[in-house]
Amino acid sequence: MQTETLAVRSVDLPLVSGEVMVADGIEGEDPQGFPRSGTSLLLRGELRRRGFHVRSGPLRATSTGTSGDPVLHLARCTPPGAGEQVLGAVTAPGDEKAAAAVRDVFGQLEAAFRPRTVLLASPRSFCAGVDRAIEIVERVLADRGSPVYVRKQIVHNIHVVRSLERRGAVFVDDLDEVPAGATLVFSAHGVSPEVREHAVARRLDVIDATCPLVTKVHAEARRFAQHGDTVVFIGHAGHEETEGTLGEAPDNMVLVESVADVAALRVADPDRVSYLTQTTLAVDETAGIVAALTERFPALRAPRSEDICYATTNRQEALRAVAADSDLVLVVGSVNSSNSQRLVELSTRQGTSAQLIDDASEIDPAHLREAAVVGLTAGASAPPELVEEVVDVLAGLGAVTVKEREVIQENVHFALPRAVRAR
Ligand code: SF4
Repeated sequence: MQTETLAVRSVDLPLVSGEVMVADGIEGEDPQGFPRSGTSLLLRGELRRRGFHVRSGPLRATSTGTSGDPVLHLARCTPPGAGEQVLGAVTAPGDEKAAAAVRDVFGQLEAAFRPRTVLLASPRSFCAGVDRAIEIVERVLADRGSPVYVRKQIVHNIHVVRSLERRGAVFVDDLDEVPAGATLVFSAHGVSPEVREHAVARRLDVIDATCPLVTKVHAEARRFAQHGDTVVFIGHAGHEETEGTLGEAPDNMVLVESVADVAALRVADPDRVSYLTQTTLAVDETAGIVAALTERFPALRAPRSEDICYATTNRQEALRAVAADSDLVLVVGSVNSSNSQRLVELSTRQGTSAQLIDDASEIDPAHLREAAVVGLTAGASAPPELVEEVVDVLAGLGAVTVKEREVIQENVHFALPRAVRAR
């Protein structure tokens, strides 16, 4: 990698100390025009993680500057098997801290240059419930125009949420934020009867995007509770799906998160205990908790069919098929996505370190240094194009050979609610 620095004048500047502009092209007099590089995404992400305020875009350099002008740092490189690239970042005059950080990240990126194999886990990304929930919001926006209110994130992915916000969706935590009579969509994670009643009291026009597989668990909770059981719900405290399901029978349901919780359980009648689970749990960990429950309560009743959904199960199986052969696993998904978090944990249990990334800019270049084989997957709420972006960015660091490992084909599709279909 060849690096150089030069003072520049530009219509996009000045910069203040602590600010860096990552240029994805240079226009104007300066002769340094360079091809857009996915690697600049990594540069941006790493500088942000180091606490710098990062801007990006084309740099319109008007002329070469003097010592009091911002400093353009250029790095020219040709990673093995990839085309020539030039990375550019501009720091404020005299901002040595930012300049040193840019140079250091250039070095980190160079250290990550190598040919790689990417093992793509399949299935990955959107499941039928997420597809359906997003389509519901899109259709309601198209039919009614904005604003369309959505309780909580429609699915747990920040890119999906931002995209719908740009089109007029308004995400709220509390129904009191929604004007009386407005249209409100319930998210894919489901809501408790109390929330439904609140919506009726506020005279909201509700469209329910709850995944049918979550609705199934709610129905089981009511059935077991009506039977007089203590219903043990295996799930994660604070997750919206957990809150919604527990709300079906708050006096009869109890949450357990671990085998240790099972040992501490107190129930009215040990012969009348049943269990249900959150749809997005780790299959292997949940089996351990169910085994502990069965040992304590031999008459334990199980749900009629598995609560952990097909999409969660398939993504975990697909990850198993790539994790053991990978030096590093990248899981595309947001931090509040339960099934994405479970994929990270599963990979770690398989002995392969994993990084959860919202998008390619969050890849830590230091993790790529020794990674000749990268396993790649995405949680059920992560858009597939973000996976493609990761492959593109890796290809900027050296030739990439992509191998897909498909463990099962998914052909699941859920019908839209009648209220949306009829419009
Ligand atoms: S992960 Fe499973 S339960 Fe959740 S929305 Fe997708 S299909 Fe439905």
